Amino acid sequence: MRKKIVAGNWKMNLDYNEGLSLFSEITNMVKDEITGHQEAVVCSPFIHLHSLVQLAKGYNKVSIGAQNAHQAESGAYTGEISAKMIKSVGAEYVILGHSERRQYFGETNQLLAQKVDTALKNGLKPIFCIGETLDERDGARHFEVIQTQLQEGIFHLDAESFAQLVIAYEPVWAIGTGKTASAEQAQEIHAHIRSEIAAKYDQATADSMTILYGGSCTPKNAPELFAQPDIDGGLIGGASLKSRDFVDIVKVFN
Ligand code: PEP
Repeated sequence: MRKKIVAGNWKMNLDYNEGLSLFSEITNMVKDEITGHQEAVVCSPFIHLHSLVQLAKGYNKVSIGAQNAHQAESGAYTGEISAKMIKSVGAEYVILGHSERRQYFGETNQLLAQKVDTALKNGLKPIFCIGETLDERDGARHFEVIQTQLQEGIFHLDAESFAQLVIAYEPVWAIGTGKTASAEQAQEIHAHIRSEIAAKYDQATADSMTILYGGSCTPKNAPELFAQPDIDGGLIGGASLKSRDFVDIVKVFN
């Protein structure tokens, strides 16, 4: 059975104290209620990572992730953070390829392929984001865009490395807009992603890959989305900043 994950992406929100207090609220509410093949992940700004890892220690189904990592191992890259540094504080995941990184920081599939390699080499599990813009969907190019993002970003990996990934399908037009993909639209793309993985690797690899949906996910729409056969959880932006909402989404799988 593949793992179900609800991952919060705090983006550039919450100062240090606000972050710690939100996380404590989340862990207090979640307690031991995360069951079975399920995991909650909080992807915070770098500044919170070490403390959140310490606070998460009593909760074996709560993990911590970063939101970016540099492609180089180390070196003269002022202001950047390496995968090794993230791993060294005990974080397990790193979001790579978020559409905001692609759009505002010019991250290309080629650069992301390097970031994925470096993250994996340092023992981090990438949550690799893909998804089409509104123009691309309106132009009926969404399947093609997703295929290219998979091919250029992660399909260079061998099967063993590939199995360490989590994929997040995030239609760019649904991120932070309040517009959610319908359960049918999301399921259609998730099934397509899984079939691409089966074609590139094999059916067993495709069947065991956790594929998250992201884009204006809320406690209200999560049950229908997560009930789809190929949707294994969510990457949650806005709603992950409210403890009640985030925990209610985590509990959809209970
Ligand atoms: C995201 O940024 O990954 C995201 C899904 O944001 P939101 O839930 O706010 O749309």
